[in-house]
Amino acid sequence: MTALPNSTVIAVIGAGTMGAGIAQVAAAAGHSVLLYDAMDGAAAKGRDGVARTLSKRVASGKMDQADYDALIGRIALADSLAALAPAGLVIEAIVERLDVKQSVFSQLEDLCGPEVILATNTSSLSVTAIGAGLKRPDRLVGMHFFNPAPLMALVEVISGIATDPAVAQAIYATAAAWGKKPVQAKSTPGFIVNRVARPFYAEAQRVYQEGAASPATIDAVMRDCGGFRMGPFELMDLIGHDVNFAVTNSVFDAYFKDERFLPSLVQKDLVDAGWLGRKTGRGFYDYA
Ligand code: NAD
Repeated sequence: MTALPNSTVIAVIGAGTMGAGIAQVAAAAGHSVLLYDAMDGAAAKGRDGVARTLSKRVASGKMDQADYDALIGRIALADSLAALAPAGLVIEAIVERLDVKQSVFSQLEDLCGPEVILATNTSSLSVTAIGAGLKRPDRLVGMHFFNPAPLMALVEVISGIATDPAVAQAIYATAAAWGKKPVQAKSTPGFIVNRVARPFYAEAQRVYQEGAASPATIDAVMRDCGGFRMGPFELMDLIGHDVNFAVTNSVFDAYFKDERFLPSLVQKDLVDAGWLGRKTGRGFYDYA
């Protein structure tokens, strides 16, 4: 199966941490991108964030002004779901809630053409469950980017029970054409990375909760001696505690409350306080 051609319009729904980065990746690959967010002003903020990041590359001579103008010019803001009708691929990067994702996809399959591919960037929800209730669950696939999407090479291509293998193949080939390193997997809780990474976060939070060491010490050990690019606390602050906590809860529930995946009260406290990490200026660390 070949990659989607550059003429395919890509819609990205949700212009937060992930959606804005995914829009940048698709636009950099030459696609016209429609960026939509349900919150007023969020899509513009997402595109402005991309523009700000890339203008630093122009200033440092790593990107031509003409390439910058062309890339930003390929990201158009959409003001409704209906405006996404021309898309051949829709990538959803909205809130990590099954009911909300199901509702958005069921509206999309009525708005877009029958050949549209619907992709979810969910970190942990079942692709099979998101597709339940769709008329064409075979057109739905997981396309799981990592944060920050423009920099991280890995993309997990996740098939639910009903996903058409040709759809998964097309997304695999497209991710590769966008310069990513895709991997295919079936929809199991947390897929590959978020399953394997659960103990990394959980044990670090237990060590901290037991008073053994501070987040800064644990991060320094894992980063400077353990060979990890980021320590667990700084990584959770980057991901966002609302997102990370939702993923842990989802994996915990999906494995019938297996206590290996028990969510952390320390992280719940951060979520309750609205200290969601970098995006709110405070998490385990203070970014003010
Ligand atoms: P975020 O909170 O930064 O952004 C989500 C955006 O979606 C917000 O701007 C919000 O206004 C918008 N939104 C919410 N409901 C919507 C709806 N019904 N229609 C349109 N827009 C809506 O979240 P994020 O971190 O970008 O995560 C988005 C998705 O990507 C989640 O499924 C998450 O699990 C997944 N993900 C996150 C990360 C990460 O590190 N943050 C990594 C990989 C995957």
